Amino acid sequence: MKLQFSSASARYEIDAAHPIDISIPLNFNGEQPNHFGAEPAVAQALEMGGFIGDTRRGGSCNVEIYRFIPHCNGTHTECAGHITGERISVGEVLRDCFIPATLMTVRPLEAAQTSDTYQPAKQAGDKLITRDTLETALQNSSSEFLEGLIIRTLPNDASKKSRRYAETPPPFFSLEAMRFLAGLPLKHLLVDVPSLDRMFDEGQMNVHRIFWNIPPGSRALTVESRPDRTVTEMIYVPDAITDGQYVASIHIPPFIADAAPSKISLFPLRSCFKSHCHSGWSGAEYRNPLFKPKDSGIFPEERRKKPE
Ligand SMILES: [Zn+2]
Repeated sequence: MKLQFSSASARYEIDAAHPIDISIPLNFNGEQPNHFGAEPAVAQALEMGGFIGDTRRGGSCNVEIYRFIPHCNGTHTECAGHITGERISVGEVLRDCFIPATLMTVRPLEAAQTSDTYQPAKQAGDKLITRDTLETALQNSSSEFLEGLIIRTLPNDASKKSRRYAETPPPFFSLEAMRFLAGLPLKHLLVDVPSLDRMFDEGQMNVHRIFWNIPPGSRALTVESRPDRTVTEMIYVPDAITDGQYVASIHIPPFIADAAPSKISLFPLRSCFKSHCHSGWSGAEYRNPLFKPKDSGIFPEERRKKPE
């Protein structure tokens, strides 16, 4: 299905059938990323009375118990409820289905290479995403596509999909960088690091606080806070996806919780000039380098084509 929409300055089309997935699949009991040295996500067959929820062990069907920590085990979306005393549900906050968004790539700097600051103080070995870097990368971006901002950090190898961050501390945002982002018309921030803040920040969470405008040390929203904003962490954007404008969609299960695992779809844009839309192009024309028609093997017609 092709969907057309207008911004203030132009008309675009997306192909709803061919999104790019920039989330990390959560492989229960397999390779997965890990933040904070937390327990990995696991799946276990339900065993109750005589019932075994595993067809490989003779059960009538598969029924599994999943145990996971959204903040630590992979791609997840969170809201201000992450740091407030009041429980706020990410499902209530996230109402946008289609988000005009910009994808950009930045290279974090060593602590000594920048005058940007952090609280608690920077340490040798810290890598920071700085204000200058963000400002430069966003120079030519349009505010029409800044409702969502997707930040890919360099280096960008696929080990991000299974990295143990307790052993390889990730980059984080400087205070100045987040003050800059918080001043943009941004509602949804998506990053490939496991946290906006330093992994060990003495529990201060100051960069998260700046984004949601919650005062340092406070667990309460103020009238100036921005609980309408979401943060998505631990995405993975392959190099083949070019920086620029997209429509993004954040899918979460209907959890009543401050965070939920999420799947992120990016839809490449096609500009529409009057008669050009619907002129017989295919999904591949959306410049989706990961576009491989019908290769998932999940659907019956694909399975029939595959040799046993
Ligand atoms: Zn988180």
